[in-house]
Amino acid sequence: MRYESTRSNLSGTDTFAVLQGLAQDGGLFLDKTLGSRPFAVQECLKKDSLGMAEMILSYLMPGFENMKELVEKAYSGKFETEDLTPLVQVGDAYVLELFRGPTSAFKDVALSMLPQLMTAARRQENMQGKTVILTATSGDTGKAALNGFMDVDGTSIIVFYPAEGVSPMQQRQMATQEGKNVTVCSVEGNFDDCQRGVKEAFASLADQLEGTGVSLSSANSINIGRLAPQVTYYFVAYAKLMEMGRIAFGDKVDFVVPTGNFGDILAGYYAKLMGLPVGRLVCASNANKVLTDFLETGLYDRRREFFKTTSPSMDILVSSNLERLLYLASRDENKVKGWMEQLNTQGFYQVDADTLKNIQDSFDAGCCDENETMAAIKKVWAEEKYLLDPHTAVAWHVMEQKGEKKNRPQVVLSTASPYKFPGPVLKALGVEAGKDEFADAAKLNEVTGVAIPENLAKLQQKSILHKDRIARDQIIAYVLEKVNA
Ligand SMILES: *Cc1c(COP(=O)(O)O)cnc(C)c1O
Repeated sequence: MRYESTRSNLSGTDTFAVLQGLAQDGGLFLDKTLGSRPFAVQECLKKDSLGMAEMILSYLMPGFENMKELVEKAYSGKFETEDLTPLVQVGDAYVLELFRGPTSAFKDVALSMLPQLMTAARRQENMQGKTVILTATSGDTGKAALNGFMDVDGTSIIVFYPAEGVSPMQQRQMATQEGKNVTVCSVEGNFDDCQRGVKEAFASLADQLEGTGVSLSSANSINIGRLAPQVTYYFVAYAKLMEMGRIAFGDKVDFVVPTGNFGDILAGYYAKLMGLPVGRLVCASNANKVLTDFLETGLYDRRREFFKTTSPSMDILVSSNLERLLYLASRDENKVKGWMEQLNTQGFYQVDADTLKNIQDSFDAGCCDENETMAAIKKVWAEEKYLLDPHTAVAWHVMEQKGEKKNRPQVVLSTASPYKFPGPVLKALGVEAGKDEFADAAKLNEVTGVAIPENLAKLQQKSILHKDRIARDQIIAYVLEKVNA
């Protein structure tokens, strides 16, 4: 089985793609037979979460040996609940709680698995030397990746986050990270600056590091080993709805996904291509609504004002994983290459009508401003006694906006614990927030009675271990310095 670049026919095995992260031509690795190989959907739906993960990952990455063992090592005993991602009915909709992992963000689902895949790939490819994981984060990937790769043999990890672009709790989570092989650095810029810096580091350092025993890889969702584990929870949600008697096999289910880098929702499209009866995939954006505009018009235009919102993990204007969808919808490497070049040099591109239609056949889009985000948190708490984090609130709002398809079950993907953003959540409930995130969290707990996740409660006692801060054009130099240290 071969993975190929979205921008050419450059190819490699699945283990190679996981180790490499990004294809050498700047494209993303993709299995171009996706959607044409059979997958035993009904058999998969009968399994428990770990069993589904094993089956789905073996299908997507058959080159890995012992997937069952890798899955068990990744997940057993690491999440709050045994089924990893519980489905909860809220009003007449459903919330898929993806934040019950070790760092209280949905990124844990993938980033618990990625280190297992990476070490297995190193073993299978007989790799010597060290793999250095470079990661740009809008807040949650950083901590989940640090947690996943901490003290993993043969690897080290460097995380870059936007200095003023993450929540105080997210910043605290990263700055207190322990482990011999971890580096955390803030960047004077936004997430897009971090992501661009990391991509440039890949491009310019690959040759320089040749022969040094150091190779670079990525924990961002550009890595197929990061994307693939996310497919599982779409199956989990579907199986739960069957178990609850809400649907029979074959009935369609809509998923509403709070979206930033387009990884989470793309995993839903993978599930659909594998045969899961997915209805609409609804892409929910905050005030940075570049994807809403694109999905409605086919014009992707990042030349616009960038907003800092209360859902910082979605403050993104260049959504990397969209590139995989562009390929799947156009089946044309040259077109994708052209669009990506134009985005890079001119800041926009317009897809052709056929590609747009293929995309719109599966995707809907909507957006939510700051007031609407706050209103959704307030309303769902008042009416259902369910506490949404700001990202999930964006999706909830968009679901209500698109209310016409309510005859089908609507599943809202919940991507973070409200306790990662206690200040804004308190404000939404009409309670004054203070300057200290732990005091805010305690107050939120007092007001709602919703438990504080243990990993967040414990942070307060931990010392700050990482204080580096650099300008956005220093990322490459910083990586070189750390790699050579
Ligand atoms: C990363 C993240 C998102 C966006 O997910 P993408 O896969 O980047 O689209 C949404 N919400 C939260 C809380 C996140 O951490």
